[in-house]
Order: sequence, then C-alpha cells, then structure tokens
Amino acid sequence: MSAQIIDGKAFSASVRDKVATHVARLKDEHGLTPGLAVVLVGEDPASQVYVRNKGKQTIAVGMHSIEHKLAADTSEADLLALIDQLNQDPAIHGILVQLPLPDHLNEDLVINAIDPAKDVDGFHISNVGLLGTGQKPMVPCTPLGCLMMLRDHHGSLSGLDAVVIGRSNIVGKPMAQLLLGDSCTVTIAHSRTKDLADVVRRADIVVAAVGRAQMVPGDWIKPGATVIDVGINRISAPDKGEGKTRLVGDVDFASASAVAGAITPVPGGVGPMTIACLLANTVTACCRAHGLAEPEGLTA
Ligand code: NAD
Repeated sequence: MSAQIIDGKAFSASVRDKVATHVARLKDEHGLTPGLAVVLVGEDPASQVYVRNKGKQTIAVGMHSIEHKLAADTSEADLLALIDQLNQDPAIHGILVQLPLPDHLNEDLVINAIDPAKDVDGFHISNVGLLGTGQKPMVPCTPLGCLMMLRDHHGSLSGLDAVVIGRSNIVGKPMAQLLLGDSCTVTIAHSRTKDLADVVRRADIVVAAVGRAQMVPGDWIKPGATVIDVGINRISAPDKGEGKTRLVGDVDFASASAVAGAITPVPGGVGPMTIACLLANTVTACCRAHGLAEPEGLTA
C-alpha cells in the first residue's frame, strides 16, 4: 500500500478543538454561548443515534444543545410552528431538522422554513443559491468536511482536475461547487455518465458519493490522486462470523490505496468530519448573527 491515509478521526478532533477554543473565546469576550437545536421527528433508529451523537458533541465543545423529539405523526403545522419558535429564539444559532422526515411531511417546505442564517445543514434554498454564486452561505457539513481535508492535504487546490461521482443535493452538487470555488476543474459524474472509468482516471481528486459498495476500483484511479470516499455501505462479512457485517465505502480501498497518493478510509474518514462541521457551522452562525469575525479555518 502506498497511499497516505487521511485520518478523518484525528482531523475531526482537531476541528472540534478549534471549535471549542472559539466557543470559549465567545463566552469570555462576548458573553455568548452558541446554541444548536436538533429536531427529530419519529423513531428511526439510525436518526436517533445521529441525534444523540450530535447532542453529546455539541455539549463537549461547550455549546448549548437542545433536542426536540417529536412523534412520528406530528403535523406539518406543528413542526413549522416549532421551527418558527426556534427561528425567533436568540439563544439558538443553528437549527437542524434530522432527515429523512416521515412521508407525510414535505422536506423542502420544512427545510426552507428554517431561517437561512440558522440553517447549519446548508440545505435552505437561499444557502444553495449563495454557494452557487460564490457568496457566503452556510455550507452543507459533509462536503465542507471533504473540502477541509483536501485543503489540509494539498494546500491550494487551484487548477487540479476533480471528479465528483454523485449529484445529490446534500453531497455531490455542493461538493462540486466548493471545488469550483477553490478553482478546480470540476466534472460531476452520475448514474448516466458514459465511460465513468475514463472520467475518473483523469482526476487529481476523486470524491465518491454514490452509495454503492466498493464500486470504484483501483484501476480507475490516476496514480498519486487523492481519493475522498463519502460512501457508507454495510456489506456482509462472513470472515467475521455468521451474519456479521462491516462498513465499506464506494471505493475499493485495498486496490485504490495501492495507486492513490492519499485516501480516506471507511470508517474513519469523511464520517467523523460531518458532525465536526456541524459544530463549526454553528459557531460560524453565532459569529455572523452578532457581527463578529468568523473563526479561521472552519468555513469554506
Ligand atoms: P444519493 O442516493 O442521494 O445520490 C447518489 C448519487 O450517485 C446520485 O446522484 C446518482 O446519480 C449517483 N449514482 C448512482 N449510481 C451510480 C453509478 N452506477 N455510477 C455513478 N453514479 C451513480 O446519495 P447521497 O445522499 O449523496 O449519499 C451518497 C453516499 O454517501 C451514501 O453511501 C451515503 O450513505 C453517504 N453519505 C455519507 C455521509 C457522511 O457523513 N460520511 C453523509 C452523507 C452521505
């Protein structure tokens, strides 16, 4: 194996340390405590785990954390009323509505009801527009985490060829915008892309955000390229025992790490960066709300 492993666990810890330092400074110098409200509707077990982790990590960096757990049959009107209340609450600087929502709730309507300045997930249509026009948005957490790791590894990304595989609103599209903002030459590949292997082979940076286990083999990777694997896929692992499973990315780590210059593992790569960037966005939102300088290195 030749690739340098980009350690998302260690990097996310350094981001959380920076956040904690900034939170302490906001308290000491301005009497401010950034506050994050997370809204969970229903009892999806994976969402419950995410929300619990978000709450714990929010408190660990010294921020104010609120969780609103609503019944699965909560009406749209009641959810919108809660969002309105959080929009008005000066102690809350970030609002996150855990997705997916139950089917009877209109996700676009709900997300676009959040005050864009408090939209720490960066999914509000205003933030999408600000990102697309190179202005100051709240940036979606997972692509922000990928960008931070890429900047840390490369310094400048200017002029590099980047291929983003996947065109979702939460990962692929914002990732492509961020890379464009850092002056990469960006290709967005997706399920209808012809000759995906050839497209990927041209890339100095590959970001895979598809959701298909190990679909990118090492022989698609240009020697020395940097590979950011966003995918999280659970596959069976009979070698660990009957019925056992393991998490893998969208990239075949064994073959890709023999060719790439640097690569994120799964687990322990992009995953831990996502919550760290949520905390970073909450601090950024608090600073912007009070007209204070934004923390360096925690925004796009
Ligand atoms: P999505 O299903 O919304 O989008 C997947 C994209 O992949 C689509 O745009 C589709 O065009 C493309 N695609 C599908 N099949 C393809 C193929 N054969 N070739 C090329 N492109 C193809 O998924 P998403 O929400 O963007 O998530 C993608 C992956 O990233 C998932 O595994 C998800 O679990 C993971 N994810 C991880 C984090 C994290 O924190 N690490 C956060 C979000 C998503």
